[in-house]
Amino acid sequence: MDDSEANVKVAVRVRPMNRREKDLKTKCVVQMEGNQTILRPVFAFDHCFWSMDESQKDKFAGQDVVFQCLGESLLDNAFMGYNACIFAYGQTGSGKSYTMMGSSEQPGLIPRLCSSLFSRTVKEAREGETFTVEVSYMEIYNEKVRDLLDPKGSRQTLRVREHNVLGPYVDGLSRLAVTSYKDIESLMSEGNKSRTVAATNMNEESSRSHAVFIIVLTHTLMDLQSGTSGEKVSKLSLVDLAGSERAAKTGAAGERLKEGSNINKSLSTLGLVISALADQGAGKNKSKFVPYRDSVLTWLLKDSLGGNSRTAMVATISPAADNYDETLSTLRYADRAK
Ligand code: ADP
Repeated sequence: MDDSEANVKVAVRVRPMNRREKDLKTKCVVQMEGNQTILRPVFAFDHCFWSMDESQKDKFAGQDVVFQCLGESLLDNAFMGYNACIFAYGQTGSGKSYTMMGSSEQPGLIPRLCSSLFSRTVKEAREGETFTVEVSYMEIYNEKVRDLLDPKGSRQTLRVREHNVLGPYVDGLSRLAVTSYKDIESLMSEGNKSRTVAATNMNEESSRSHAVFIIVLTHTLMDLQSGTSGEKVSKLSLVDLAGSERAAKTGAAGERLKEGSNINKSLSTLGLVISALADQGAGKNKSKFVPYRDSVLTWLLKDSLGGNSRTAMVATISPAADNYDETLSTLRYADRAK
């Protein structure tokens, strides 16, 4: 199977040194050569994105490169009617939000995917065809789902149910129609304000929840002669996962520790699901059991993770020596997903 056909892609992105690491003159322990990430041992992935130093033109990968490598092919698939998922996995502070959302000067995958999606809906619509775009935004925290776009601002948790034909869904989750990236932007900034953020020792703003942004693209084709119409629906799920750092390192206790084990449960289940699917895709083990129902995250993403869906995982890592253990565990996780 050549790379463009593989249904699971795994990429690694190293962020630059932060202020603290620079002040401490922390050694850089990560290197990248071609598609290899070198931390001793050396790991190989579909893509390795080096963003340590912009002067290294031959290997520096900015937001545009990440989008070209991971986003564009997922959009092509969405326009063919397939579902897709992108996950950002890594310890807090390693660049997950930067990769998924970015900033207004350096927009990440979500804004780039949305802008490109809207310009394609305009370009590709022929006579008798319409595209509609709807979005949902939710948070999964301690195995519970909350709507981040609920106009009533309700903090109620929602139930996950399974429809026998349509599959798993969140009962009562808002799905709002949007016509431009501007609409989405304002919805998201509202949504982000209601995310659950709890302080840990490691990073004051450490996010302990998974943020799941879903774009549903509906392509309606109308046969002008017979007056009948058909629909193709595809779903893009863009997931900023909770920090992968181990509970012990962040000094967590009590509620926070329980939270940690729930986070680890969904992260470990996700790892198992993706690796089972990657094995199936490679024709290694077609009948391997895929434990979707073991966590809310994987259960909800079931219809975006198997079959004809495409999955991309971006493992984000710190270059610094003092994050060696976490970086190694992130690379091992990403390695198992291949
Ligand atoms: P996380 O979401 O994993 O907790 P962030 O995305 O918030 O981490 O990144 C932490 C800090 O590092 C932010 O200030 C972010 O702008 C910066 N950063 C992360 N990745 C990169 C990158 N590839 N290039 C430049 N800055 C980055």
